[in-house]
Amino acid sequence: MEKGLILINTGDGKGKSTAAFGTAFRALGHGHKVCVIQFIKSPSEYGEVISAEKFQNLEWYTEGRGFTWSSDDLEKDKAVAQKGFELAKEKINSDKYDLIVLDEVTYLTNYNFIEINELIEVLKNKPERLSIILTGRNADPKLIEIADTVTEMKKIKHCFDDGIKAKKGIEF
Ligand code: ATP
Ligand code: MG
Repeated sequence: MEKGLILINTGDGKGKSTAAFGTAFRALGHGHKVCVIQFIKSPSEYGEVISAEKFQNLEWYTEGRGFTWSSDDLEKDKAVAQKGFELAKEKINSDKYDLIVLDEVTYLTNYNFIEINELIEVLKNKPERLSIILTGRNADPKLIEIADTVTEMKKIKHCFDDGIKAKKGIEF
């Protein structure tokens, strides 16, 4: 049995989530079982969520209520985040998957919605074959320490800075 890896896509540039979904797409091609759990983002008509329905070996969960910096109620965000984390633990421990993506998970510890040590424990005790990709800005140094592959997406330019709005098929 091949040993799974822990990967992190972090940084302030675009491409963290989409690179994780690209890897999921790659794994699915080999018949691997994949689970994506999206934190923070609320359920909506994201192109990737619509595409996900077309794959048999892919499960997709959206466990958020919108980006926290525009939140009306941080306590509600915390409760939703903790519920999502419980789901993540259940999926990780089930040993049913080859790859699990925890999209935007870094915000859970950055906002103290969950304990960093609890996340570390879950990752350290993951099933042997399972690979896990974590995405989000400002990945905690403790996460970086235990990861096998860490990539920082660095912003050179982003169209939002020029007032160009989020584009369908590119941003969502
Ligand atoms: P993507 O989902 O496109 O891979 P991401 O996961 O790297 O992006 P997030 O921080 O999760 O980026 O933000 C999601 C949204 O914010 C996307 O629409 C993305 O285009 C946009 N975004 C990413 N980086 C920047 C940036 N540096 N400035 C402004 N907007 C950004
Ligand atoms: Mg993202």
